[in-house]
Amino acid sequence: MRLIIASNNSHKVREIKQILGQYFSEMSTLREAGIDIDVVEDGTTFQENALKKAEEVLAAADGFDAALADDSGLMVDALGGAPGIFSARYAGEGHKDQENNVKLLKDMESVPDEKRTCRFASSIALVRRGKEPIVVIGYAEGVLLREKHGENGFGYDPLFYYPPLQKTFAELSADEKNAVSHRSRSLALLKEALEREQL
Ligand code: IMP
Repeated sequence: MRLIIASNNSHKVREIKQILGQYFSEMSTLREAGIDIDVVEDGTTFQENALKKAEEVLAAADGFDAALADDSGLMVDALGGAPGIFSARYAGEGHKDQENNVKLLKDMESVPDEKRTCRFASSIALVRRGKEPIVVIGYAEGVLLREKHGENGFGYDPLFYYPPLQKTFAELSADEKNAVSHRSRSLALLKEALEREQL
């Protein structure tokens, strides 16, 4: 089965290929397949956005049998789940990680330590021709710090303290983060769903 991965992010793609390689005869990114498509992420949940992305990419990818897409973000309890699906553009359209982090710290200024719980979420959708789609979501639970710690990773990683390892995600190596991240959890759930189908 030929799979197209609806991402050009090399970190994500490497992880997806490692974990799901055994299920597909060929796995290509959008760039590798020469497909340029801009999917509007206008769903109200991570799952809706991931499914929409996978469906639209498969519709545009002649010769592929399946498409996989993900949508992810940070949910902060004290903010009712924000930034959530708006994580990439929390400080406004076109804003960068640094500005998103500054806005989040400001919004959380008056929130006491015990109420700073949050979680990263990653939804992954797999769409195949002639089969029901599979949509999963995985989480990583943490606490939002008051200042940045660590230089690795991206996005909200420097503010996301992960209690089991007593470090932020930005203080972990890529391998350490991949072992516990929301994305590794959702990929594991997808793998479990594929294994159940083969029973
Ligand atoms: P996307 O799903 O790749 O579009 O990511 C959405 C946004 O969520 C990113 O721009 C980041 O701000 C945030 N995000 C998602 N996953 C992570 C992560 O593993 N670390 C830090 N930020 C993340």
